[in-house]
Amino acid sequence: MFISARIKLTAWNLLIIMFISLFFSLVIYRVLTQEFERFERQHRFRIERQFNQDYFPPPGFRQRFTLRLDPELIKETKNRLKFMLIIINSGILVISRGLAYFLAGRTLRPIKDMVEEQNRFISDASHELRTPLTSLKTAMEVSLRDKNLSLMQAKKLISENVDEVNKLQSLSDQLLRLAQFEKPKGNLIFEKINLHQVVQTAVNKIRPIAKIKNISIKTKFQDRNIDISGHKESLVDLFVILLDNAVKYSPRASGVEIKTWSNDGSAQASVTDKGIGISKQDLPLIFDRFYRAETARSKNRAYGYGLGLSIAKKIINLHKGIINVKSEDKTGTIFTVQLPRIKK
Ligand code: ADP
Repeated sequence: MFISARIKLTAWNLLIIMFISLFFSLVIYRVLTQEFERFERQHRFRIERQFNQDYFPPPGFRQRFTLRLDPELIKETKNRLKFMLIIINSGILVISRGLAYFLAGRTLRPIKDMVEEQNRFISDASHELRTPLTSLKTAMEVSLRDKNLSLMQAKKLISENVDEVNKLQSLSDQLLRLAQFEKPKGNLIFEKINLHQVVQTAVNKIRPIAKIKNISIKTKFQDRNIDISGHKESLVDLFVILLDNAVKYSPRASGVEIKTWSNDGSAQASVTDKGIGISKQDLPLIFDRFYRAETARSKNRAYGYGLGLSIAKKIINLHKGIINVKSEDKTGTIFTVQLPRIKK
């Protein structure tokens, strides 16, 4: 598909270039041939004016002094001009064919990359949706075939299925958010917002989840008047993702800390936990879509699809910010976020 689109685009480019080139060649040819005639006419006019002013020439004298360009010479010059224009146009055709093919490739490359990225996204997403859907279907089919299924067992099955459906719903919500942030500027309307308020909203959302694991969330706000230009809901989402991970990958009864401060025109925030940490091999991959470290999958068995940090990264990029992570296996993790600050 990409090759045929490239060839079509090359053909269109070539057609336009050759149309322009031939049009100007015709104009040049026309102008130059008219120039011969104009030169002849001007010369005749000048001599006649001189004759009329100075004296009356004898008959036949006037004819001899009137300039006539040699018709053979004119014909030959015209042929030479035609030949030169044909050579120039052939040269343009050859050069622009290669150039148009190269430029068509360059023009289509981002579209090709985008299509490949979307295809990867669709196949990853379908794979992630397929696994829980298959297990749901199998569980229901097995129960349907069981003639001795009691009401208690049926209720248990339905409640398990509801859990699975909730997880699927959260996956589809995350996929939708990810797709939304793929759009330029994420279709977000930016406004002046207070960093302290954003962080506080995120903390309030996560506290009930942290309470289940008896994890305390400590806040440290160096300055409560740090303003940034951004989209409030997505920035709240960003801190919810970081805090949720900190809680999810921390042992029971541990502590999580969130800090905000300002530094050289930028607003900064960090989320620190004393959880399972991230190994050196996993660190460069954690922002990739659907990536989950082995420790997160197996030992901790924390629920997730590996989409949170890729959403966080997209939010950061839309806000022209930076996100960094420092972590040590089995010791803890610090995520630091830097966002451009609005000066007072
Ligand atoms: P998930 O839904 O799996 O949490 P994320 O995209 O949020 O997906 O995170 C990707 C992976 O990065 C996680 O599966 C986990 O391995 C690792 N990770 C993220 N945050 C932390 C953290 N605070 N502590 C330890 N590992 C983390």
